[in-house]
Amino acid sequence: MRIPVVWSPATRKHVPEHEVWVGVPTPGTELPERVDVILAALQAHPLHQATPHDDRLLTAVHDEALLEFLATAADDWARGPYDELVGQDRVVPYFFPTDALLAGMPPTPPAALHGRAGVYCYDTMTLVGPGTWEAARAAVDVALTAVDLVTAGERAAYALCRPPGHHVTPRGYGGSCYLNNAAVAAEALRAAGHERVAVVDLDAHHGNGTQAVFWERPDVRYGSLHVDPAAGWFPHVFGHATETGAGAGAGTTRNLPLPEGTGDDRWVGSVGELADWASDCDALVVSLGVDAAGDDPESPLQVTADGFRAAGRLLGALGVPSVLVQEGGYDLMSMGGLVAAYLDGHAG
Ligand SMILES: [Zn+2]
Repeated sequence: MRIPVVWSPATRKHVPEHEVWVGVPTPGTELPERVDVILAALQAHPLHQATPHDDRLLTAVHDEALLEFLATAADDWARGPYDELVGQDRVVPYFFPTDALLAGMPPTPPAALHGRAGVYCYDTMTLVGPGTWEAARAAVDVALTAVDLVTAGERAAYALCRPPGHHVTPRGYGGSCYLNNAAVAAEALRAAGHERVAVVDLDAHHGNGTQAVFWERPDVRYGSLHVDPAAGWFPHVFGHATETGAGAGAGTTRNLPLPEGTGDDRWVGSVGELADWASDCDALVVSLGVDAAGDDPESPLQVTADGFRAAGRLLGALGVPSVLVQEGGYDLMSMGGLVAAYLDGHAG
C-alpha cells in the first residue's frame, strides 16, 4: 500500500530569492525545486491535486489581521519606493515593536509598510514576494485535501506543503513559514469529529508556531523533537523541555530537545517516546520536516533514511488516521528519498 500524495503546482509560486541573516542577504534555501524533488521521489504513489477550500479553518488558526497583511503585502510593497530606493523587491521588516520598545504603552499601528512588516514577521529571513501568498494559501489547500482523503477512509495521506508552516503563530510568521498547514490540518481533524488529535513534529527545529496555537488546548496535543534551542538554535526562545502547555492545555505539550550531532539511535528513541505519548490519540498529524538529516544545511542533526523509515514505522503503528504534512528539508539531492523512506515506514 502506497500512501496517497497531495500537491498543488501553485506551491511553486513562492520564490524567496534570499534571506537576511545577521543583517546580510544570503541565498534562500526554501526553494520551489523542493516540490519537484519530492514529487520525483514519490512517483510510485497515487497523486492528487489539491482542491480549493474556504477560509473557515484558516481563520480558526490565524488572526484576521495576519491573513490580511500576508494577502496584500507583496502588492503594497511593489507600489514602492523600496525597489527603486534600495533594490529590495521583497517585503522584509527592519523594525520590531517588541515588549522592550512598547514598555507597557499602547502603540498606534504603524502607517508605513516597512514599519508594519515587523508587527507580523518576527525575523528577517522570511521575505514576502509576488506569489508568496498564492503558494502559502495553496499549501493550506494541500493539507486540507489530505485531511479529506483521510476522512474519506484512507489510513494516511501525505500533504506536499510548501512553503512550510510550523513556525507560524496565530499572529505572526517567520522561519520561512507563512501559514501553519499542520495546525490547520489538526483543526480540520477536530472538525471531522476526532476528539484527541496529536501533532508530532519531526522537523529538526522546534515548531513554536504549532505549539503556540495549541498551548492552552486540551483537545490537540503538540510533541516535538528537535535540536536544542539552548545550544543556540532557532527558534531560540522556545522548544525547551520545561514548556508543557498552560491553562486547560497544561501538560499537553511535550518537547524533547536533542544535542547537536544526534544520530539515528537517540533520534528514533525520542520518536518512540513521542509515539508512546500519542498512543491514546484518535488522529495524528505528523509535521514531517526532513532537515534532521546529516546532509541538510540547516541543522546539525545526523539522521539517516533508515532513521526516517523507523520513525514512520513507530508512528504508523499507532494505527490512527494520519495526515503527514511536509515541513523543512533543504538538501535537494537527498530530501526526496528521506520523505519516501518515512512514508514507506509509516505505511508499514
Ligand atoms: Zn526545520
